[in-house]
Amino acid sequence: MKPFTRRSWLSASAIAALISSVPSAFARGGVASGSTPWRNWSGGVVANPEGRFSPASEDELASYFSKTSGVLRPVGSGHSFSPLVPTDGHLVVIDQLTGLLDHDKQALKATFAAGTRLGDMGPILESHGQAMYNLPDIDRQTLAGATATATHGTGIDFGCLSSYVTALRMVTPAGEVLDIDADSNPELFAAACVSLGSLGVVTRMTIQNRTPYRLLQNSWVAKTEDLLEDFDNIAAKYRHFEIFPFTHSDYSSALSTQHTDEAIDNPSPSVEEEAGFAQMITQLSQVPPRDRLQMVNAIMSQTPPSQRVDTSYRILANVRNTRFNEMEYSVPIEAGADCLREVLRTIIEKEIDVVFPLEYRYVRRDDTWLSMSSGHEDHAAISIHRAAQFAHNPYFDLIEPIFWKYGGRPHWGKVHSLDARALTKLYPHFRDFQEIRASLDPTGRMLNPHLSKVFGVRT
Ligand SMILES: Cc1cc2nc3c(=O)[nH]c(=O)nc-3n(C[C@H](O)[C@H](O)[C@H](O)COP(=O)(O)OP(=O)(O)OC[C@H]3O[C@@H](n4cnc5c(N)ncnc54)[C@H](O)[C@@H]3O)c2cc1C
Repeated sequence: MKPFTRRSWLSASAIAALISSVPSAFARGGVASGSTPWRNWSGGVVANPEGRFSPASEDELASYFSKTSGVLRPVGSGHSFSPLVPTDGHLVVIDQLTGLLDHDKQALKATFAAGTRLGDMGPILESHGQAMYNLPDIDRQTLAGATATATHGTGIDFGCLSSYVTALRMVTPAGEVLDIDADSNPELFAAACVSLGSLGVVTRMTIQNRTPYRLLQNSWVAKTEDLLEDFDNIAAKYRHFEIFPFTHSDYSSALSTQHTDEAIDNPSPSVEEEAGFAQMITQLSQVPPRDRLQMVNAIMSQTPPSQRVDTSYRILANVRNTRFNEMEYSVPIEAGADCLREVLRTIIEKEIDVVFPLEYRYVRRDDTWLSMSSGHEDHAAISIHRAAQFAHNPYFDLIEPIFWKYGGRPHWGKVHSLDARALTKLYPHFRDFQEIRASLDPTGRMLNPHLSKVFGVRT
């Protein structure tokens, strides 16, 4: 078997060909017929909207709300795994609302149109002497879409992206244009920073940034138990730290990231590495889960460490070509390691046939109402994945109750089965959010069946 590194394992473009690519279909400019189905990134969530609209201004958006009736859902880049977006009513796609609108050199803040993709923000900000503090695993999401679900990266010192929002503008179902910030309306601001797209359509956001910086990232493979034992010490040493535990294995891939002044050195994974990875996946999937432990351990223990250096936004976000579905729960940080251990043990005991690694990372607490890390505690986010061509429900259904046992909150943009009754217990401000939602959208125009369940509203 050819050698492979952690990067080839995770970038996985070598097996992209195994899984068909399913782009979302949007009409640009004006209203389009709803005959083309809409699909999310993984292809698992599908809708046939009656109308699609791509507004170029807040006025156009307000008049679309008043001209139409029925459900209206905003969509970003369709990278959520949960059915937040689908509707057979109206889809509002914000791909004409993009780019930098304003920036403040002194305060290191920048205002972007809400449809700007995270990946387009890095170079723009850099040219104005700014950089985002953190990024999620990929950067294809829109700013409004990512913040609507409290999308986060890793790092005990960094909150989710929504916690860096300092102001936003939103068009409500009544056609009002609201400028919202923490000084003028703290409650509405705390609700609107993580809104699940249920309060109105966000058109612009201002975010707090910092000066540009360079990062050195190291990856290595080690025993999961050793990494978990020492997790807090390692996490305290680096700006970012996370692990990707392998299923049916004693090993994880570890990833640490820190500031550096070293020269940029960020080669793409070689063809040989990718080939080695594809070969390993094929071989592994032919072995019954109960016989995999020794094989995976042998491969993992031979994986060489690797290192790369680049501008922050080129290190923090990755390219993920392999389509998958994902469930992620955030548990209070002190429960994280035990919860992860139980998930890994269950995968072995139940002989779940899954090769995709898990992901385990820390996120700092914040003051928004519905972020998974809101409140007084930092959280550990634990993700499980299944390649998109396989049914994910049997696996996710077995694991989800473990997350509940440890007080987990589901990622809004990822697969979960919780309803309003359960969610009310998890979020002190869930009812406050509901009041604001009902006052801005009294007729439920922004509720699809998934959101009706999440908010406990009969439609
Ligand atoms: C490969 C992959 C990797 C991922 N990695 C991470 C990760 O590292 N960390 C993490 O936390 N999450 C991660 N996610 C999840 C992803 O970041 C979230 O689901 C995010 O919300 C998707 O953003 P989007 O722009 O695609 O929005 P969509 O999925 O299109 O929409 C998400 C929500 O935003 C709302 N919305 C969109 N635009 C607006 C608007 N203008 N106004 C109001 N509401 C709006 C929608 O109605 C919906 O409720 C990942 C997803 C994928 C597919």
